[in-house]
Amino acid sequence: MSKIILNPLAGSPIKNVQIKGQGILFKDKPFEADSLRKIENDEVAGILLKLFEFLVPLTIEEAKSYTESKKKRKFKCEKCTFTSDEQIALAGHNRKHDKEDRIDAELGIEVIGEQEVQEMSDGDIELARKDAEKKHFESLGISAKWEDDVPMRGVVM
Ligand SMILES: [Zn+2]
Repeated sequence: MSKIILNPLAGSPIKNVQIKGQGILFKDKPFEADSLRKIENDEVAGILLKLFEFLVPLTIEEAKSYTESKKKRKFKCEKCTFTSDEQIALAGHNRKHDKEDRIDAELGIEVIGEQEVQEMSDGDIELARKDAEKKHFESLGISAKWEDDVPMRGVVM
């Protein structure tokens, strides 16, 4: 026996799930929202359904009609299997791809995609810089101490 599981449109991508004795599931290919998977091991299917409450078990008939109706949707993403009947939903979905990290075709290095960034004040930048510096030192096994961390005089430790 096997089970067919739907990750509904309102679900969420699932990746890197470790289930005892099964290795890591959805490692290279996440189980995306609005898609189906056939899980051959009933026990694994049961665990997934418990772990992710939004997942829905489908019969073979239900799975077929889901796939059929998905094919009939008007708006299709060119980069993945996303489809929708509403253009605005596809536009929203495409913004997600714009933000994804990609590999630069020419150089073969990772590109950090467009992110929504809020303007930082000089103070914010200084804090972020100190934080990054601190993490850098810590990664070298040196714990850095900054003036800000020095306890104020008069405070009983
Ligand atoms: Zn897409």
